This record gives sequence, structure tokens and C-alpha cells, in this order.
Amino acid sequence: MKIDHIGIAVAKLDAVVPIYEQLGMELELVEEVVSQGVRVAMFPAGESRVELLEPLNEESPIAKFLARRGSGVHHIAFRVSDLAAELERLKARGVRLVDEEPRKGAHGALIAFLHPASTGGVLVELCQQEAS
Ligand code: ZN
Repeated sequence: MKIDHIGIAVAKLDAVVPIYEQLGMELELVEEVVSQGVRVAMFPAGESRVELLEPLNEESPIAKFLARRGSGVHHIAFRVSDLAAELERLKARGVRLVDEEPRKGAHGALIAFLHPASTGGVLVELCQQEAS
């Protein structure tokens, strides 16, 4: 299993994007994912990416995360080839799911979150890229 991306919660993309550019990373895209209440900036890092997440409004899960914990790592996303099948498999094993069904994420991917209570306290996202 590969790490698809690491999601990092930030208050303002404009303030943090230059920091990653300074590290030598190249901004691939900035995209609004309205259904998740976020604006996303993607930086490729080898086969993975760093995903910066800025809340679009106070209702955004990212806004709530920032209020509670401040900026920092929000989730780790693993790449799977068949997300729906993977969710079925995990559900059958009693893993708590945040998303019972795959939904649209950034970059045309299908995503689903697993509950941190079932993953050792880390919010885990499973991610199926369109091409795979
Ligand atoms: Zn993500």
C-alpha cells in the first residue's frame, strides 16, 4: 500500500504555499472541494503528495480541526485500487468508517475516511485515483 498524500490543515493557503515552495516543492494545483468545505493545494513529492487544506467556511471540518488543534497534520491517505470493495472488507471486520460510501475528493479521486477510533488515533483516508 502506498501513501497517496498527507493532508495538512492550514488557516491560509497564501501563507503556507510559499513555505513549501521555499523547500523546493512545486505547486501542482489549487482546487476548491466545496462538498468538503476546503480549498486544496497539492505539492507532488515523489509518488505521493502534500495536500494543504484551507477551510472555506466555519462549518468546514478543517475549521473545526484548526480551532481544536491548530495547524498541522490532519490525515494520511493510502492509495487503494478498489475503494468500494475495501470499505466493504473493512466494515465486515468491524472497522468504524466515517464514510460508508466512496465520495468525490480533490483531483477527481474517490475518497473515504476511516474513524480515528479504529486507526490508532490517526485520521486515515483511503483514496482511489481515477486512472486506477
Ligand atoms: Zn486527503
